[in-house]
Formats: sequence, C-alpha cells, structure tokens
Amino acid sequence: MLFAHDTVAGLRAAVDLVNTGEEPDTLTTVGQVDAWYARHGYTGRRDGDEAELAALRALRPVLRELLTADRERAAELVNAMLADAEALPQLKRHDGLDWHIHAVPADAPLDRRVVVESAMAMVDVIRADELSRLSVCADARCNGLVLDLSRNRSRRFCSTTCANRNAVAAYRTRVRVRGDARD
Ligand SMILES: [Zn+2]
Ligand SMILES: [Zn+2]
Repeated sequence: MLFAHDTVAGLRAAVDLVNTGEEPDTLTTVGQVDAWYARHGYTGRRDGDEAELAALRALRPVLRELLTADRERAAELVNAMLADAEALPQLKRHDGLDWHIHAVPADAPLDRRVVVESAMAMVDVIRADELSRLSVCADARCNGLVLDLSRNRSRRFCSTTCANRNAVAAYRTRVRVRGDARD
C-alpha cells in the first residue's frame, strides 16, 4: 500500500474537484456538488447552498496549485493551509470507516474541510517523496490532473475519454505511417 486509505481518498477527491473545472465545467450546480460529495464518500456538514458551491469552485485553483507544486512549494502551501484552518489532527472512527484523521471538526464548512483533507493528504505525499504520482494530463488539449497510484506508474491521462482519444489518434498515426511506407 502506497498511502493510507484516507490519504488516497483525500487525493482522489481533490483531483476530481480540480478536474471539474475542465471544459465543460461540471461543478456549476448544487446537484453537481451532491454528486461529487457522494462519489467520494464524504460525511459531515453539507449546506447545499450557492455559497458552498461558490466556495468549492473558488477552491479549485488553490488545490491545483497545491497538487502541481514542486516539493518545496507544496510543503509551504501545506503549512499555510493547515495553519489558516487551525487544523488539529485527531484520529476518528465513524460510519463504518476505520481509524482515519480528521483535522477540523465535522461541522466545519465543507470547503475548509476539503482544504485541510487535501493538505493532510499532501503531508503524506511530500514525506514519501511521491509527488511524481501527480501530473497534468498527457492530452495536449487537456489540463486535467492525473493521480497515478498504479504499481508501474503507467497512468498518463486524466480520464478514459482522454486515454481513448489519444489511443485512436495514435492508431491513426500508425496506420498512416504504414500506408506511407507502402507508397
Ligand atoms: Zn471521517
Ligand atoms: Zn485529460
């Protein structure tokens, strides 16, 4: 196991949140917040209002900076985020989830909890010197983030859409090259 389960969950949720900002934007309604929240098994406070949506939208560039920073910069950002949020790491066990860290209360606003969970996840990534697990999608037209937790570090695309598009393009190039060779 590369990272603890709550670290993996925090990274997945953060990457997914940042990637909702890729065109077409898929975080424009409270319903889309509901879906993202459910997708990542979040618990705790939900306001379900426009202010919460706006706060999560505003968080996307902040998390993008954190997740794409070099190790030095990422450490600075993590320290600032944890200090700003007055994070206090505590082990919790609830809702059938085994021991994991909560560093802000479950009734704190969702955007504050997401910042802190992302920063706590990056604490592990930075200490393990595994920042290469995070990258920007290899598709030339996409800025989506890629979280590669595979053993052989083979993941280059943010989504199956991007992977498939590039597989098709690579196939066409191969066919064209073979065709040219025969001419
Ligand atoms: Zn929890
Ligand atoms: Zn992509």
